[in-house]
Amino acid sequence: MWNKIDKKTVPLILKFKRMKKIILYTLLLSFFAQCKTQKTISTVEKKVQNYTIDRPKLMVGIVVDQMRYDFLIRFYNKYGNGGFKRLMNEGFNCENTHYNYMPTHTAVGHASIYTGTTPSMHGIISNNWYDKYQKKSIYCVDNSNYKTIGAKKGGEKSPYRLQVTTMPDQLKLAQINTGKVIGISIKDRAAMLPVGHSADAAYWFRGKKDAKFISSTYYRKELPKWVNDFNTSGKAKDYLKTWTTLYDINTYTESIADDNAFEIKFKGEKTPTFPHEFPKLMQENKNYDLLKTSPFGNSLLIDFAKAAIKGEQLGKRKVTDFLAISFSSTDYIGHRYGTDSKEIEDTYLRLDKDIEQFLKFLDIEIGKDNYTLFLTADHAAIPVPNYLKSKKIKAGYFEMEKFKKQVKHIAKEHFLSEEIIADISNFQIFLDKEKIKSLNLNYEKVTDIIANEIITFKGVYKAVTAITLQKTNFTEGILHSLQNGYNQKISGDILIVPTPATVYYKDKGSTHGSGYSYDTHVPLLFYGKGIKKGTTKRFVPIIDIAPTISNLLKIESPNACTGKIILEVLK
Ligand SMILES: [Zn+2]
Repeated sequence: MWNKIDKKTVPLILKFKRMKKIILYTLLLSFFAQCKTQKTISTVEKKVQNYTIDRPKLMVGIVVDQMRYDFLIRFYNKYGNGGFKRLMNEGFNCENTHYNYMPTHTAVGHASIYTGTTPSMHGIISNNWYDKYQKKSIYCVDNSNYKTIGAKKGGEKSPYRLQVTTMPDQLKLAQINTGKVIGISIKDRAAMLPVGHSADAAYWFRGKKDAKFISSTYYRKELPKWVNDFNTSGKAKDYLKTWTTLYDINTYTESIADDNAFEIKFKGEKTPTFPHEFPKLMQENKNYDLLKTSPFGNSLLIDFAKAAIKGEQLGKRKVTDFLAISFSSTDYIGHRYGTDSKEIEDTYLRLDKDIEQFLKFLDIEIGKDNYTLFLTADHAAIPVPNYLKSKKIKAGYFEMEKFKKQVKHIAKEHFLSEEIIADISNFQIFLDKEKIKSLNLNYEKVTDIIANEIITFKGVYKAVTAITLQKTNFTEGILHSLQNGYNQKISGDILIVPTPATVYYKDKGSTHGSGYSYDTHVPLLFYGKGIKKGTTKRFVPIIDIAPTISNLLKIESPNACTGKIILEVLK
């Protein structure tokens, strides 16, 4: 039969043989490929089999109140190698981290970092706000059910207005209440809100005539010995010394002239310039709160943090402890002197030194591989608007008193009643719903008319009714931030977005509160056990910190967390 094959069939047979070869090779190749995949799977399985719950001994959260991201860059060449630079170069730097809500204030920022969600869920809508149920203005952590420990006043507080759990709360739950959780700050809200409901304690500074760290009976009956020892050591009073620049002031080229028109003087000072003689000012002011507006407030807090670690034996147990630190002096100084002042430059150069020695302390006390740390800010800040204006940049001041009159005028004109306006605060209008009902007015129509009328007021960029926020889902832009800051149960009835660079503040000094990038862009540095070295330029919302740290600690995220894990950061 084969002999009969003609010349035409020969190439066909050859083709068939070649195909057979190709099929054989393909089969062989896919076999090897399968082996390789199986090998990869088995390595993964092995990794899973070796899963160990290896938590750091101590988790440290650091918030620098009012720190702008650009302070890391602006003063970079003047920082030493052991402070901010160590965290940036040996840790992970999320360069493009932003707040994703408004208003950007201290209480809200601390709550959002530690709960991994926004005011729409956690309920801390500002520092102070109008409580529409109690019909009065309230402060976020005031609670008269508790008493002060360590002084006569200043400690009647609790975190009860925080609606959800924090990372430290989850750590407590995961470890069946065995790890210690301590929050410390100059400000009460910045000490209490991070650590949440189940903390062992939160301590904050009381200036006035006391110059002490105090607390609330919410946490314990009396101050522990180490806090009393710290208070009686006289350290706080010793820090009230003359503030001169750390280096020669002529080398401070990253800030504007020391004597300028954009800074607020202390009572008793002729010019807002160095040196700031605190001992002299103390005679005039008779109040240790002066310390808050000096870089020594940060140094004092570092000393207190060390005392807390030693006093509570943090990082010395089999379980993980959590220390939440918040530096407030940076905020007080920014408010008084502005983001571009010599005082701010000096404050950050000094804070860099404080952080350097704190890291060295942690290396020795806890051990280099036994702690994890993150550093961020509760909000950033705008350069002094009058300074911006002097550089021909559009900026301005919101005339709040005029605005309040205008809103009442609108109410009277349209509804024959000023009383339907219950309160105006935090760029929100709260209406008296009972009054509206008694006048037989339609609530929705009232809010629509007011929103439409106030839009013409100078400095109002957008006016949005609460009903709009309930019915619409804004996925990006400034209205997304407004929506994230809006809590249906707690917030007002008409919400206002001011024009960019328009602030409600004194005509000197910096402030914050908006949803614009000058207030939202903050540093976010991770460092230590479980953290990769690197940077990302990707947009990271502030609510992503809590799920990231929770994953690192191998605990559940806070119970209303809406953030996502920052995958690049973790090993
Ligand atoms: Zn502030």
